[in-house]
This record gives sequence, structure tokens and C-alpha cells, in this order.
Amino acid sequence: MTTPLTTSLTLFDTRSRSLKPVTASNGEYLRIYSCGPTVYRDAHVGNLRTFLLGDLIVRTLALSGVRSELVQNITDVGHMSEDLHEDKLLAESAATKIDPFEIARDYESKFHNDLALLGITPAKHYPRASESIQMMLDLIQTLMDQGSAYLGSDGSVYFDAQSFPSYGEVSGNKLSQLLPGHKYEYSEEGAKRFHADWALWKAAGNRTQMVWDSPWGMGFPGWHIECSAMSISYLGGAVDLHLGGIDLRFPHHENERAQSNSVSGEEIVAQWVHGEHLLFEGRKMSKSAGNVVLVHDIVAAGLDPLSLRLCFIENRYRSQIDLTWDSLHAADATIKRWRKKLSEWGVSTPSIQSESVIASLTTLLMNDLGTVDVAIELRRIERDDSISLGEKAHIFRAIDSVFALDLDRVEVKGELTSEQAALLEERAAARAAKNYARSDELRDQLLLLKIAIVDSPAGQSYEVIP
Ligand SMILES: [Zn+2]
Repeated sequence: MTTPLTTSLTLFDTRSRSLKPVTASNGEYLRIYSCGPTVYRDAHVGNLRTFLLGDLIVRTLALSGVRSELVQNITDVGHMSEDLHEDKLLAESAATKIDPFEIARDYESKFHNDLALLGITPAKHYPRASESIQMMLDLIQTLMDQGSAYLGSDGSVYFDAQSFPSYGEVSGNKLSQLLPGHKYEYSEEGAKRFHADWALWKAAGNRTQMVWDSPWGMGFPGWHIECSAMSISYLGGAVDLHLGGIDLRFPHHENERAQSNSVSGEEIVAQWVHGEHLLFEGRKMSKSAGNVVLVHDIVAAGLDPLSLRLCFIENRYRSQIDLTWDSLHAADATIKRWRKKLSEWGVSTPSIQSESVIASLTTLLMNDLGTVDVAIELRRIERDDSISLGEKAHIFRAIDSVFALDLDRVEVKGELTSEQAALLEERAAARAAKNYARSDELRDQLLLLKIAIVDSPAGQSYEVIP
């Protein structure tokens, strides 16, 4: 029998509303699932805050020698628009006259670039919903066979919400509190048996794009079943940590839990961890308000994209933050100062004192990802004369394995324009993400700006063409 491995990291579990030690149920490594992007538009900095959460957890666990396996899905079908009647990808396709799969692949590649710019270690798998249809069909069939799902009068397959008595434990929304008429799931009028049931498989109707054959006719999957299927399939039937933005608690995660637990008869997800929203300059970011900020905007402003990472690190993941241009500029200055100091401090000299400081900083991280406290400590250590320069270097490098601010980077002196610098950053990220099409494109753009790229196994370097 497997003995679970309880790590020293505690995180806030949304379902039990308490801090819980993170535990690897297979006794070897953490199995983590993170809800990924719906690839119909750019991920904004708020989305990226959630995606960073997985990276901070993986890196913190690695600090104490615990391995993890992260799976993050790519939603390229089935995520309905706010009025619940149109697939987000197809709506974008109708507006732009571009093939929906082409849109999906384009934004998917931009998503990987953004992750690389933020120093986020790639997940083990990025399964696409559109390529996981058979997994979903198998899951739906099982749910039907055991009586948790049924074929509605409109040809769509619905989950029978009342068949799952513990519905509501993640979000607090019990079935008895969900009123008819509340729009939380698309359905044809009268096709469902109960108002809170939701579609697992939607009949195609007039839709001709992004549809697949199934035992119930042509159609497409519901968004919630996608995550049940991909998390169970790719993580071998148990999810130690399930991550996502706070807005996904209901109905997405609530419905996912009902589906996954009904299939297995067990609590598939041991711990639900949710990242909070962010405001930008005091306002909720939205396309309609016109204040959406992308990583690209930060780079275009001449800032290191890792300044965004430091801003997130300096706020607890489950507190709402108000991101501002001032805070981004301040973070950019801090990173530059730390890089300069680290190069002056030179070689790391481990000592009993520095090891003990690292141990206490690690303890802070283990306490519900206390990155805020660690950042405060780093600023104190920076000024502490009782710590030698080599010891400071040792401490900063150890913590940078989690903070990943690339503090050992040597700032290149030269006369690069902000446009050249931005393109170089983006090109390095594209190459790191193995997005060769994009990195070739950027190399050509840079050449026009008199920057010649030289690639080697050690990375990208460049020469300014006189
Ligand atoms: Zn999901």
C-alpha cells in the first residue's frame, strides 16, 4: 500500500476553508491540475497571475526536494460566451473571419510566450480540449450508464445534479439555493429535468464547426466535462492540488467535482486552491472598459516582464491586488538593483548563518506561500551589515530558485532602443517556449532594426550591426 507523502507546504483549501498540508497521494510527487486559458484572445495580466500560482507552488516544493507534475489544459472548444449561447472561439471566428482552430493555435502560442516571459516553468502536459474528445465521451458514457447523466429532449446529454448530494461544497452554492432562471449553464428551454442540471455534451443543432460525432449524434463537449476528463486522464485518477482563478469556483469547479467524483466514487481532488483577482489602477480589467493590460504592454513600456512577476510575488496569492504602473516601475527598479548587487557580491559563500537564513525563508514560503514575507526579508538582508557579501549572494540565489527573477543576469550595456530590447526579450521567450515560427519571425524583425541574432546551446546572443 502507498504511504502518502505529506509535505511541509500548507495552502488554503477552498472546500474545507482551512489551511491544509499539501500531500502527494502516490507517496512520490505532487499531481497538480491548473485550469488553463480559453484561447480566443490574449491572456491579460490577471489571467497570468493565476497561471503563476502553479509555478510558485512547483518551485517552492522543489526547494524542499519534492517533485511535482503539472497539467494545464488548453480550452479551445466548448467555453460559452457570457450570454451562454455562443462558443467563445466561434464568436471570435465570426468576428474576424479566421478559422477557429487557427485562432486557437495563435493564442495558444502567445500564451506559451507569455509564460516564458514571466519565467514560468512549462507544465508537463498542455492537453487541448479539442484533442481529448474521446476521453470526454468515455466519461459521459460512464456517467449515463450509472444513472448520473441522461439524454435531454433536445439531444444534449445532461448531468443530473440531484444525483450528487454533496453538490455545493467548493463554492457554498447548494442546489436548494440555486433558483430556476439563474443563468449558469446553456440549455434549450425545457430540455433538462431539473433547472440546475448542466450539459455534458451539447447537440450540434445548426452548428457546423468544431463538432464531433458521438453516440448521441453530432455535438460538442461542455466546458466542465473537459477539465474532469483531462485531469483524471493525465494525472492517473487522483489530483492532489487543483488550481484556478477564484471566479472558477462556481459553476466550473463545482460541476467538475460532481462529475469526477460520480465517475470514481471518490474525492478526486484532495485540495482546491484559488488565486484572487486583480484590479489595475483601481479598476476591474475588462475589454469593455478598455483597460486590459497584456505582458506585451509591459515590455513595450520598456520594463522587464519579470517586474510583473515580482509585483505578484509581493502580494499574497489569495488577496486581491491593485496593480499599478507605479508598482511595475518600482519592481523593475528593484530587479535591476538586485542584479547589480548580486554581480557585485560575487561568488556565493555558504555558511551556517546563511543556511539558517535560507531555512527560515523556506519556512515562510511553506506557510501558505508566504512570498510577501520573504520579499520583505530579502530587502532587510540586503541592508544587513552583519551578513557578508558572499552570504547575501548565497541567500539571494537560493530564493531566486523560487522567485525566478533571473538575478544572475548580467545587464547588457549598450545603446539598445526600447523597441530592440523588447523584441529581444520576446524572441528569447519564444525560443525558450520552442515556438520556432515566432522566434524566426522576431529574428527577421530584429534584423531590420540592425540587430543580428546568434543562437547557441547556451541561449541567444546578438550583435549590433554598425
Ligand atoms: Zn477547468
